[in-house]
Amino acid sequence: MTDLDCDEVVEQVTAYLDGALDADARHRFVEHLAVCEGCDRYVEQFRRTIGALGELPPDELPDGTRSALRSALLDAFRRRPG
Ligand SMILES: [Zn+2]
Repeated sequence: MTDLDCDEVVEQVTAYLDGALDADARHRFVEHLAVCEGCDRYVEQFRRTIGALGELPPDELPDGTRSALRSALLDAFRRRPG
């Protein structure tokens, strides 16, 4: 079993929050959050942002909203200090 690195966590965060990861991937994701405070905080922040949109059923999100949001958050994450 290979540990995730921070980039992989960032890549998988939407799948994780969508429940789209399989059990093994999900386990590794959670394991990383347990040992990486930065990613833990990032996922929390992501979850809250998604939650604000989450009032809408996914079908009612305009095309591209999810990917646009994801890009914006990934960008913010990569530019974070430290
Ligand atoms: Zn990390």
